[in-house]
Amino acid sequence: MARFTDRTIIVTGGAQGIGAATSRRIVEEGGNVIIADVLAEDGAALADELGEHAHFAELDVTDAAGWASVVSDAEEHFGPISGLVNNAGILAQGTIAGGDVEEFRRVLEVNVTGVYLGMQSVVDSMQQAGSGSIVNLSSTAGLTGYAYLAPYVASKWAVRGITKTAALELGRQGIRVNSVHPGPITTPMTEGVGEDVAAAQPIARFGRPEEVAMMIAFLLSDDASYSTGAEFIVDGGQVTGQVVASLEG
Ligand code: NAD
Repeated sequence: MARFTDRTIIVTGGAQGIGAATSRRIVEEGGNVIIADVLAEDGAALADELGEHAHFAELDVTDAAGWASVVSDAEEHFGPISGLVNNAGILAQGTIAGGDVEEFRRVLEVNVTGVYLGMQSVVDSMQQAGSGSIVNLSSTAGLTGYAYLAPYVASKWAVRGITKTAALELGRQGIRVNSVHPGPITTPMTEGVGEDVAAAQPIARFGRPEEVAMMIAFLLSDDASYSTGAEFIVDGGQVTGQVVASLEG
């Protein structure tokens, strides 16, 4: 399958985890990928491994000037941008009562302002490309609450909301915008999180980054040509409810 032939797609946080799996998938399906990340060594190594259809760009997603240079770098390398995966994100744990407001601000800055800047930066290029698809990584934490994750939950609900606004603003320009909501996925972000987190799910295991990448690739592709402003859940059924062991029979 080559759904991304001649397409140029930026993946933020592409050096590891879900972003790396997505970058691989894009190249496997014939596309050009810009791996944009603060992790220069890992990002450059992955781009080398993926070959001539991958390029690494060092980017802190909170930096507006950095975004402008990544977009022009991408255009120079491969041509106008037709896809953006706003995947870079950070997590902070702690109670609201004992929380640090600077940490709260930092999570919102990366997870929300980064997404805002990303969308803002690619619109002109997508118009040149003729159409576009933007995929924003929210979470099941953008669908429900989680104790001890206030900054993260606030940021992921914000991503879900801004996705809908962007879909409304950009639809007539041929740009689709959707959010993806993973449950627990095995990546560096969830290192040290116990398997018990997934124990009550209908699919009682952590997901693989590749399982999220498949959903992202679907949304980037023309297979999702009639979907915009929508939420796509990849969570092993986590938000559906809990399987209660004593009633299983
Ligand atoms: P990860 O921590 O493994 O990877 C995140 C990547 O983002 C890293 O490469 C990191 O360097 C990069 N990054 C962080 N801050 C950045 C910044 N300011 N600028 C540029 N790059 C930056 O995380 P992951 O598990 O692969 O998660 C990817 C996305 O999926 C995140 O938005 C995360 O919130 C979301 N998500 C993950 C899970 C999960 O269980 N792993 C669940 C739901 C949602």
